[in-house]
Amino acid sequence: MANKEFLRRKQEKIMEENGIIYLENVSKSYSTGSPAINDITLSIKQGEFVFIVGDSGSGKSTLIKLLLRELTATSGAVYVMGQDLAELKHRQIPRFRRNLGVVFQDFRLLNDRNVYENVAFAQRIIETPINEIRRNVPTILATVGLAGKYKAKTKQLSGGEQQRVALARALVNRPSILLADEPTGNLDPKNSWEIMQLLEEINEQGTTVIVVTHNREIVNAMQKRVIAMKKGIIVSDQEEGEYIDED
Ligand code: ADP
Ligand code: MG
Repeated sequence: MANKEFLRRKQEKIMEENGIIYLENVSKSYSTGSPAINDITLSIKQGEFVFIVGDSGSGKSTLIKLLLRELTATSGAVYVMGQDLAELKHRQIPRFRRNLGVVFQDFRLLNDRNVYENVAFAQRIIETPINEIRRNVPTILATVGLAGKYKAKTKQLSGGEQQRVALARALVNRPSILLADEPTGNLDPKNSWEIMQLLEEINEQGTTVIVVTHNREIVNAMQKRVIAMKKGIIVSDQEEGEYIDED
């Protein structure tokens, strides 16, 4: 127990000093090609809203996967909530991931289930008591504007609605960090704006939000921190930044 307490303090200290996300000289190579991530050092503070922009192939999704511990760094250290991800044992990964909500371009819903089931599923995995699930799911569906749709099969929903379900599922376990990899890539402008506004509201309630996007108009309008990547490196990192051109 003393050891656990020591570890917790150590993680809190790393978080205080370096942020909720901290990459120190991180590189990631796949078996072929040049490194997808090449010696990146990056710190994101708790409560920040960060856009990650850059060409296709510049390493954005690889960065997200490193944070989710879907991949491990080839060299350097990745800390999430003060935890060195290289030190995580396999059996510790599910518990670690409870800290993270994740949303993808292609929604990744269970298409044979209804809206309620898709969101409740995330709570069942972490063994939330049924009475809490019955309370939490409607609350989060209301937050994303889907209170009236809980019985609908996801296939019957529009793209924008499907992404709201995915967002509700990502948030229902109250993660500290929300990672969104091109969440509006399949949406029309109106739905893209609505999803981004939801992400901003979630951020205002304290969740750290990281959004990979190609949506220049939204990035320029929202005045958030913008990290631009190119060929595996960070080429610019600006507070209240703008979308950086891809060439
Ligand atoms: P982005 O999300 O910015 O489009 P990615 O992180 O997906 O970029 O890819 C970065 C680079 O790594 C690309 O050159 C891509 O081809 C390569 N890459 C991505 N995933 C794999 C993989 N599983 N195996 C081999 N190379 C990969
Ligand atoms: Mg990608």
